[in-house]
Amino acid sequence: MKKLKTTVTLIQAPSDVDYTCPYCGERVIQDFEEFLDDQGLSWINFSDWQYEPIKCHFCENEIEVFYEFD
Ligand SMILES: [Zn+2]
Repeated sequence: MKKLKTTVTLIQAPSDVDYTCPYCGERVIQDFEEFLDDQGLSWINFSDWQYEPIKCHFCENEIEVFYEFD
Protein backbone atom coordinates (compact mmCIF):
# COMPACT_ATOMS: atom_id res chain seq x y z
CA MET A 1 0.00 0.00 0.00
CA LYS A 2 1.27 3.46 -0.91
CA LYS A 3 2.24 5.60 2.06
CA LEU A 4 0.46 8.93 2.18
CA LYS A 5 1.98 12.08 3.60
CA THR A 6 0.79 14.62 6.10
CA THR A 7 2.23 17.57 7.95
CA VAL A 8 2.34 17.55 11.74
CA THR A 9 2.29 21.04 13.20
CA LEU A 10 3.95 21.33 16.59
CA ILE A 11 2.02 23.79 18.67
CA GLN A 12 4.28 25.58 21.05
CA ALA A 13 3.02 26.39 24.52
CA PRO A 14 3.88 29.85 25.84
CA SER A 15 6.94 29.95 28.14
CA ASP A 16 6.97 33.57 29.31
CA VAL A 17 4.83 36.68 29.23
CA ASP A 18 5.99 40.24 28.76
CA TYR A 19 3.85 43.33 29.27
CA THR A 20 4.16 46.89 30.50
CA CYS A 21 1.60 48.19 32.98
CA PRO A 22 -0.07 51.40 31.72
CA TYR A 23 -0.67 52.56 35.33
CA CYS A 24 2.67 52.17 37.11
CA GLY A 25 4.85 51.80 34.01
CA GLU A 26 6.54 48.65 35.29
CA ARG A 27 7.59 46.07 32.73
CA VAL A 28 6.56 42.60 33.80
CA ILE A 29 8.42 39.60 32.43
CA GLN A 30 7.12 36.47 34.05
CA ASP A 31 7.21 32.75 33.63
CA PHE A 32 3.91 31.78 31.98
CA GLU A 33 2.97 29.30 34.74
CA GLU A 34 3.70 31.98 37.35
CA PHE A 35 1.58 34.46 35.39
CA LEU A 36 -1.34 32.00 35.37
CA ASP A 37 -0.99 31.42 39.16
CA ASP A 38 -0.74 35.16 39.74
CA GLN A 39 -3.92 35.80 37.74
CA GLY A 40 -5.75 32.71 38.98
CA LEU A 41 -6.10 31.37 35.44
CA SER A 42 -5.47 28.11 33.69
CA TRP A 43 -4.12 27.74 30.16
CA ILE A 44 -6.74 25.20 29.23
CA ASN A 45 -9.48 27.88 29.53
CA PHE A 46 -7.61 30.49 27.47
CA SER A 47 -10.56 30.90 25.10
CA ASP A 48 -12.69 31.98 28.09
CA TRP A 49 -10.37 34.49 29.73
CA GLN A 50 -8.34 35.90 26.83
CA TYR A 51 -10.56 39.02 26.70
CA GLU A 52 -10.76 39.46 30.49
CA PRO A 53 -8.69 42.16 32.20
CA ILE A 54 -5.64 41.11 34.22
CA LYS A 55 -4.18 42.64 37.39
CA CYS A 56 -0.77 44.27 37.25
CA HIS A 57 1.85 42.16 39.07
CA PHE A 58 3.08 45.32 40.85
CA CYS A 59 0.26 47.84 41.45
CA GLU A 60 -2.67 45.41 41.05
CA ASN A 61 -4.66 47.78 38.85
CA GLU A 62 -6.89 46.08 36.32
CA ILE A 63 -5.55 46.24 32.77
CA GLU A 64 -7.41 45.51 29.54
CA VAL A 65 -5.25 43.14 27.53
CA PHE A 66 -4.73 41.86 24.03
CA TYR A 67 -2.60 38.74 23.70
CA GLU A 68 -0.17 38.39 20.86
CA PHE A 69 2.09 35.45 20.15
CA ASP A 70 5.75 36.09 19.56
ZN1 LIG B 1 1.07 48.43 37.56
